[in-house]
Amino acid sequence: MTRAYNFCAGPAALPEIVLKQAQNELLDWQGHGTSVMEISHRGAAFEALAAEAENDLRLLLKVPEHYHILFLPAGATVQFSMIPLNLLGTKKKADYVHTGHWSQKAIKEAGRYCDVNVVASSAPDFLTIPNSAEWRLDPSAAYLHYTSNETIAGVEFDQIPPVESVPLVVDMSSNILAEPLDVSRFGLIYASAQKNIGAAGLSIVIVRDDLLHYASPLTPTVFHYKTQAAQHSMANTPPTYNWYLAGLVFKWLLAQGGLSAIAKINQQKAAVLYEAIDKSQLYVNHVDKRYRSKMNVPFYLKRPELLSEFLNQANEARLLYLKGHALVGGVRASIYNAVPLEAVQALIAFMKAFEQRHF
Ligand SMILES: *Cc1c(COP(=O)(O)O)cnc(C)c1O
Repeated sequence: MTRAYNFCAGPAALPEIVLKQAQNELLDWQGHGTSVMEISHRGAAFEALAAEAENDLRLLLKVPEHYHILFLPAGATVQFSMIPLNLLGTKKKADYVHTGHWSQKAIKEAGRYCDVNVVASSAPDFLTIPNSAEWRLDPSAAYLHYTSNETIAGVEFDQIPPVESVPLVVDMSSNILAEPLDVSRFGLIYASAQKNIGAAGLSIVIVRDDLLHYASPLTPTVFHYKTQAAQHSMANTPPTYNWYLAGLVFKWLLAQGGLSAIAKINQQKAAVLYEAIDKSQLYVNHVDKRYRSKMNVPFYLKRPELLSEFLNQANEARLLYLKGHALVGGVRASIYNAVPLEAVQALIAFMKAFEQRHF
């Protein structure tokens, strides 16, 4: 049995070497005679693992001392609520940039807690990022939220928005750890684990210490950032196995040479794939070139009647989960950190051969 090339948007591919290590250690983790998921999160062994994973993430992203890193249960969708609950304080408004499906969901959820001011929108097509010079910021907003990579339409910010009047909050679920990041520009960074960090069921929140003091009394304890910061994310039983897997992925990234090394590979993967699309007669990507995502590459067939044949044959060639999101159709190749250049090259070879067969 061989592993297929997996282009799933999430839960997504994990590095093979990480899976092998997890497999090797499954029955007997570090000589403890049990797996890592069968031991107390309050014991010294797991506490050491947890601290090491946090330190490795701090190292990778160069997270400054005055930020806490939280390992929280559940996905980013829960954070759509927890961000207003933890950050509004006495303020009643928050700014949101509307750039696609995920920011839309964040906006809808925040609307249950505050007045959402949409500073700009690229609706209905979501093929670009609205010019930040024209955003209608509200000076009384508690924070400004944006989605750095829209996973469905394949649109990615090419820089951190130059906003300094309010804390910047970013959903980085689908592009965290893909390249170096200046964490000091943010009030809060959050991400689900299942795209670039590990397995579904865990989220990472990186929050500046001064923002820990605005939580609503109604905030659930497990998602109360200040409580979780004080208790090292162990206010209750954390998703220990996911934490372990995330730690292995951080070690793998460090062994690759860190984020500038992985960024070069990501750059190359995206460049060759977009070039193959742009040079073809059959495939087309509609996203504003400046904002094309390096993680999620959606494209269409100019002969849409060939789509199901394309997807079936890709599947037979062991190129998996290329079907575009139901909202937009077409094809989407998600090429996160753990998807190797060989996978992208195999996809390009398949695309070229498929095109030749039909022209
Ligand atoms: C996947 C994703 C989410 C949602 O994550 P869940 O774990 O399903 O809650 C949120 N934002 C972005 C940008 C995503 O890609």
